[in-house]
Amino acid sequence: MTKAITILGATGSVGASTLSIIRENRNSFEIVGLTSHSNAELLAALAVEFAPKYVVLSDVRHIAVLEQKLAATDIQILTGEEGLEFLAIQKADLVVAAITGFAGFKPVFAAINAGTDIALANKEALVAGGHLLMPLATQKGVTLLPIDSEHNAIFQCMMGQKWDHVEQVTLTASGGPFLSMTSQEMYHVPPSRALKHPTWSMGAKITIDSATMMNKGFESLEAAWLFGLDKKQICAIIHPQSIMHGFVKFKDESVIAHLAPTDMKVPISHALGWPERLKITCEKLNLTQISNLEFTEIKEDQFPSYNLAYQLIGDNPCYAIALNAANEIAVALYLDKQVSFGDIYKINAKTIDLIKLTELPDYHSIIDYNNYARNIAHSILPSL
Ligand code: NDP
Ligand code: MG
Repeated sequence: MTKAITILGATGSVGASTLSIIRENRNSFEIVGLTSHSNAELLAALAVEFAPKYVVLSDVRHIAVLEQKLAATDIQILTGEEGLEFLAIQKADLVVAAITGFAGFKPVFAAINAGTDIALANKEALVAGGHLLMPLATQKGVTLLPIDSEHNAIFQCMMGQKWDHVEQVTLTASGGPFLSMTSQEMYHVPPSRALKHPTWSMGAKITIDSATMMNKGFESLEAAWLFGLDKKQICAIIHPQSIMHGFVKFKDESVIAHLAPTDMKVPISHALGWPERLKITCEKLNLTQISNLEFTEIKEDQFPSYNLAYQLIGDNPCYAIALNAANEIAVALYLDKQVSFGDIYKINAKTIDLIKLTELPDYHSIIDYNNYARNIAHSILPSL
């Protein structure tokens, strides 16, 4: 039986790995829709190769290229946020949520609301909207299959286990490119260095989040929502080899860990194939060739961003919406060389200090609050 799949963010790093798995397992999948933001050339090439029913280019300015390249096909072309939301509710067995940032929130909400299972890479949607998305998924009978490698690891560790028996879940972090530096030494590192991740190859935004360790803070929030855990049940440690992606400690002191090569194709294929497993080509894990697996604690003074996010688990969701919004602004400014690496933390921490909390935000107020927090983050810039 084939699975009908929609890939939101098909032209990104997760999108590329997803499509490469589908290429290898062509008979198992049929593509409903593919999306990109502005990369019309690549979207057109992927559409020609995978023949989806729909393509969505969310940034309408590049539409002419797409229209011209797909003129001889019957693929329907859509644009904008409305196009994304339309595609997200079309009948599919699985929506792969691989848009980066808060931009993925609306289509993820729409897909869950339509009752479609989600393979979730877009952690920011859950960081900002977990309090809305998780109950909605339960109400609609939607399964959220984590693509993020650590969460996928925990999901796999828990197959056949009971959450009542769990004492703590641990997510591992590579430590990023600046593991041997102090926060002062990191302060002025240029984007070219921060973009060189030692173990993973990923999109720019998550690579910077990994360098600041905000990524691990967001992943802690993501784990809290996905698995219904409180703060003390979640921790993160540094494991520079990125071989063990996560482990679960049970109340009898048993620990079940998940190991895999450092390749996103492994967790993505798990989510795509679930409950079956797919055959994929990727680097093989050979433990005899790995001399040691190291584990150390995350130091608060070295990576303060981790704790900034971690401490928000279980708190008013406004904080996490604001942190995610501020971080998107700060990372974009850093990549554009308008602020320093160290300023990313400052912008984020100051935004958290300045926001005024509201009641538990619903769908529209999450979007409004995201915009409000982005404005607060911008207002901080002159005082940096
Ligand atoms: P990329 O930057 O490589 O790709 C992002 C995708 O989203 C592209 O298709 C891009 O289109 C599209 N996109 C970007 N901005 C918008 C927007 N405003 N509206 C609609 N679409 C948009 O990101 P990654 O693949 O690295 O990451 C995607 C998500 O997966 C993130 O949330 C990340 O945290 C998460 N993730 C990624 C991992 C990885 O290994 N890369 C690992 C674990 C989680 P275009 O190409 O046209 O810009
Ligand atoms: Mg991860």
